[in-house]
Amino acid sequence: MVILGIESTAHTASVGIVSERAEILSLATDMFRPPKGGIHPREAANHHVDLLPGLVEKALSDAHLRPSEIDAVAFAQGPGLGPCLRAGATVARMLALTWDKPLVPVNHCVAHVEIARVLSGLDDPMLLYASGGNTQVIAHGSGRYRVLGETLDLGIGNFLDKLWISMGGTFPGGPPIEAEAKRGSELLSLPYSVHGMDVAFSGMYTAALALDAKGASRPDLAFSVESTAYAMLTEVTERALAHRRRTDVVLGGGVACNERLRGMVRAMAEGRGGTSFAPPKALCLDNGAMIAWTGHLALQHGMSMPVERSAVQPRQRTDMVATPWR
Ligand code: AMP
Ligand code: MG
Repeated sequence: MVILGIESTAHTASVGIVSERAEILSLATDMFRPPKGGIHPREAANHHVDLLPGLVEKALSDAHLRPSEIDAVAFAQGPGLGPCLRAGATVARMLALTWDKPLVPVNHCVAHVEIARVLSGLDDPMLLYASGGNTQVIAHGSGRYRVLGETLDLGIGNFLDKLWISMGGTFPGGPPIEAEAKRGSELLSLPYSVHGMDVAFSGMYTAALALDAKGASRPDLAFSVESTAYAMLTEVTERALAHRRRTDVVLGGGVACNERLRGMVRAMAEGRGGTSFAPPKALCLDNGAMIAWTGHLALQHGMSMPVERSAVQPRQRTDMVATPWR
């Protein structure tokens, strides 16, 4: 059994082909990078419409498979930007109809958990999902993935991107801030905003910009932003572990590419007698392979959908979808 998965929830168009044993047979990805400013949903969607057909072709040829050898087509149904989701869903529907294969809708956040879970071999870990638009601490309970804590305003990645763009850079901001932070050492004071198991970043955004305007050293500012923001994420993850009496953590989302965040979460989990696992970077970022893999889990439980009922759900939350495979 082989499934082709399509991801297009935000800035990334990606097609992955995955076997039922979770072998990634191919992954073809292209990220929309606006030349300046943030992401406009329609421009990102146009990028996906232009690129997805070629990415499907590349994924098939890299996997040495013909369309007739694909058993189902999975796509990210939500959450995400409406125009971007519709671009991926339209391609998925067209392929499912043309190839006469089942169409399997997948929740994007659940897909981040499932790819990390299968790669880590951990059965029931807590997920710290730190991406552009989403920042959530997720655990499974009573038949669904539950959001134990989350951002009250910006996603951590959006916060880093917005800050970097406001400081004169271009999207994405996370990697250049990571590079600057490696040269910084002085901890500047920034708002530390943890509310129970929730976090907020807009106060830190304003304060960091004010420090930048006053001429703070870039490396120190980047170092301080990372130290403060990632300590907040590590603290809420630890609190969730303690409440749920768990020990293991997996990371997902583009910000989980960050070495500092990985190290802080690892130190915390190991300090509690557990482990932490972060997938390879290409599988932390939005990708079609996680959609294809979650498609396998869903399809084993008959969760395919006729085209006419496959509308995208931009606000579909992690805890809205059933997970009968768990
Ligand atoms: P995603 O939304 O999951 O596709 O991830 C994209 C987000 O990850 C963007 O906001 C990036 O700035 C962020 N990101 C990517 N690499 C890194 C990194 N090394 N450190 C921090 N953030 C990162
Ligand atoms: Mg994501």
